[in-house]
Amino acid sequence: MGSGKKKRAGGKKSALTVDMALTIGAKKLHTARQFMYEEGKKYNSQFIDAKTGLCKPQFLETRPCPVCASSKSRELFIKGGGRYVACGKCTMVYLNPAFTDKALVNFYSGNLATQAQVVANETDFSRRIYSKGLAAITKFRRTGEILDVGCSSGFFLDLAKEAGWKTVGVELNKAEAEMARKKHEVHVTSIFSLEVKKRFDAIVMWDVLEHIKNGNKTLQLFSKKLLRKRGLLFLQIPNSGSLATRVMQEKSKMFDGIEHVNLYNPSTISLLAKNNGFDVLHLETVISEIPVIANYLNYQDPYLGEAVHGGKILDIIDEKTLHKKKLGYKMQVVLRSR
Ligand SMILES: [Zn+2]
Repeated sequence: MGSGKKKRAGGKKSALTVDMALTIGAKKLHTARQFMYEEGKKYNSQFIDAKTGLCKPQFLETRPCPVCASSKSRELFIKGGGRYVACGKCTMVYLNPAFTDKALVNFYSGNLATQAQVVANETDFSRRIYSKGLAAITKFRRTGEILDVGCSSGFFLDLAKEAGWKTVGVELNKAEAEMARKKHEVHVTSIFSLEVKKRFDAIVMWDVLEHIKNGNKTLQLFSKKLLRKRGLLFLQIPNSGSLATRVMQEKSKMFDGIEHVNLYNPSTISLLAKNNGFDVLHLETVISEIPVIANYLNYQDPYLGEAVHGGKILDIIDEKTLHKKKLGYKMQVVLRSR
């Protein structure tokens, strides 16, 4: 992929775009992922009260804003059994109530992770997006010891190792950890119970922080126990300030109702960093969702529609403009501990 003549549909873009939907089309991408959405929906239904459409109260607890601790919030919508709110003080979007820690452990231990499967199906794009993240880290440090939290089958660690990093992974899913262990040191544990004697030069979390209820505690753990002084923390997380989610709101797959407990935007991730002794060195957005938004604005299914978009939304907003304004679907962030 990436060679040969470019199709007109994507408009002008670099051959190394990480935007899979822009390249192959939203319909093709999401049809391939459909099995995962269906499985997830089926699994989640056991936790939802069919009568109220909300998660069963025995699994839930209410909480203040996970970033600024304010209890002032505004309900956005209910989706997949969960109630999403926006903090009245810092704009953080979060589930409230959310699953208790115990219920979450129970939820994940029974859920057969399909991430490795998805990465395997989308190898080319996974490689590009992981490479982009690695390049962002490399701007501030070339090599050293790196820890991947939620390393899955070790796809990112493979790239890091090739680039000269000494690699360690943490993964709760035993089957995925086994795969990663062929090439890397891997611990099957939660980061909060990880016992290692060393500290790392960099820690990465790919699409993980949005699943963790207490972001403050997580960043504190990194800076106090796991990172060397001025160590780097790389995060890829969904962007609740993205154009796609602001336009489509509850119709966006970003909101699942159980797993995505905390949805940061550029401002709230920066606040979380600052409050926990980190400086923001790099913050950019990736994945435009232009085809998805174009479908939605054309009264089609956002994910399975086939609206003609020419790489722009309403012939106005292109990929470059969108990312310049940090309106992409996900954020890649590099933080440095003070
Ligand atoms: Zn807040």
